[in-house]
Amino acid sequence: MIATSERVRGSGPDADLLIWHVPVGAVVEDFQAIACSDEEGLAVPSGQRDVPLRLDATGESWCLRCLATVPRSRAEGSIRADRVGHRKPAPEGA
Ligand SMILES: [Zn+2]
Repeated sequence: MIATSERVRGSGPDADLLIWHVPVGAVVEDFQAIACSDEEGLAVPSGQRDVPLRLDATGESWCLRCLATVPRSRAEGSIRADRVGHRKPAPEGA
């Protein structure tokens, strides 16, 4: 699913967290609106990326408030899209 990241300072040098938010619309003057807030957004965002709903990396997590705004069908469609690359091709002449 398309997401934009926010770096959140942790309590140690390696404790920074990357929070993935669902972006709303395009970046306007270095400001990215996000789904979890009507007023706040990300200044100078790092850009949008296609991020799997199940994150493997440590120190990264989804913004749960953003995810709550995403219709279930869209989130599930995103999971299915993740698997498309692993599907075997259909046999020829089927
Ligand atoms: Zn958010």
